[in-house]
Amino acid sequence: MAGLSRRQFLQAAVAGVLPLSGCRKWLQTATKAHVVVVGGGFAGATVAKTLRLLDSAIKVTIIEPKSYYITCPASNWLFADLITQQQLSVSYQALKDNYAVDILTDRVAVIESARRRICLASGQQISYDRLILSPGISFRWDSIAGYDAQVAEIFPHAWQAGPQTQLLQQQMHAMPKGGVILIAAPPDPYRCPPGPYERASMMAYWLKQHNPRGKIIILDPKRSFSKQALFEAGWAKYYGYGTANSLIEWHSLADNPITQLDVASRTVISDFGDRFTADVLNIIPPQLAADIAVQTELTDESGWCPVRPESSQSLFDDFIHVIGDAAHFAPIPKSAFAANSEAKACALAVVALLNDKSIASPNWLNTCYSLVSPEHGISVAGVYKLDADKTVSAVVGAGGVSHSSVAGYRLQEAEYARIAYRSLVNNSFF
Ligand SMILES: Cc1cc2nc3c(=O)[nH]c(=O)nc-3n(C[C@H](O)[C@H](O)[C@H](O)COP(=O)(O)OP(=O)(O)OC[C@H]3O[C@@H](n4cnc5c(N)ncnc54)[C@H](O)[C@@H]3O)c2cc1C
Repeated sequence: MAGLSRRQFLQAAVAGVLPLSGCRKWLQTATKAHVVVVGGGFAGATVAKTLRLLDSAIKVTIIEPKSYYITCPASNWLFADLITQQQLSVSYQALKDNYAVDILTDRVAVIESARRRICLASGQQISYDRLILSPGISFRWDSIAGYDAQVAEIFPHAWQAGPQTQLLQQQMHAMPKGGVILIAAPPDPYRCPPGPYERASMMAYWLKQHNPRGKIIILDPKRSFSKQALFEAGWAKYYGYGTANSLIEWHSLADNPITQLDVASRTVISDFGDRFTADVLNIIPPQLAADIAVQTELTDESGWCPVRPESSQSLFDDFIHVIGDAAHFAPIPKSAFAANSEAKACALAVVALLNDKSIASPNWLNTCYSLVSPEHGISVAGVYKLDADKTVSAVVGAGGVSHSSVAGYRLQEAEYARIAYRSLVNNSFF
């Protein structure tokens, strides 16, 4: 083997040039490379699992501060008492047991990209051959004066599932009869485009039974929203939408967005000074990539991480790949389903790069179900491709929103929503 680098040796062995008998054990047990995954959400879990499935010689470590993961998908169902926080929680045990993924319960404090090394909050340092960054989102705390991370402990955004979601649910339960819940929706791009409207639906379902004179007002900085016609048709069917007694009102404030919060009076204030007071305030702030991505200077002026879509490599660092909500994969929306799809394409690219192979041109998928009521589901789907100029575009004619005149179809879609959720969790974490 004298004169052969490890990479040349592996290439020769794979090509059958070298006899394998003498080095079989080495090939089976040696670690080819260390891939570190930052964040154990849908993107991180899926990429770790897929890497190990594709090439068991790669050592894969997920760094994640939480010892278990609480899924945002289906977390809106908590407001309609259709699911419990425990049912939303996923353990990392199967990734360890079934795929030998190493899980380190810690937070990445610093990425030293020049040294290909990360420093954890605990002080430990870890080297990587490739880093996959999947840390999700953070919030633009400077966009609504008076609303910051501390105030969000009083008026929860509930856009990272867990204690925030439970707090918002408790506030809804404690709301006086005939009270008002105000949802301040975020501007594009943000995590889960249909999420605020599914949340309003699930809250309306609960109010209808327990507080029927209550009201949900959505203030939106957008002129339109995801699956709008389907949501509005469902709201009209179940919640009186469009009538004086509607449980849900939607107002576009496209030219006059919410810019201020007065905590003492539970009032949000728009750019032109319009005031909206509520009993329960759910402010979902504008978003950007998680802090670690910003701090490592992997974001651009948009606040998201630009990548080469075919490999998910950061435009600013060839050895760092970014996937999931933190990455800019537009027009692919920021969803768990899309994160799962981006993760699989990324794993293929990383394995190709580590084996000196060319990267296959990927496709990506997204499907997003929402419940309008427990018996009424709606969905949107998209298929995406890499164009010759290396940008992503939607495949024309594939996907779209679910339209059907078939009796019972909405009931079926509600069931599909539950199945899709379980299958996505299984596909990513088990
Ligand atoms: C209310 C709601 C409903 C939704 N419904 C759906 C739906 O029905 N279908 C769908 O497809 N999507 C849905 N989504 C969107 C979906 O939750 C996200 O798109 C998805 O979670 C993105 O996955 P991710 O892995 O990129 O980020 P995340 O799931 O946020 O995971 C990121 C992980 O990184 C960790 N992390 C962050 N910083 C660090 C650090 N410095 N060191 C180590 N770890 C770190 C975090 O702790 C976190 O666990 C919904 C979202 C919301 C809010």
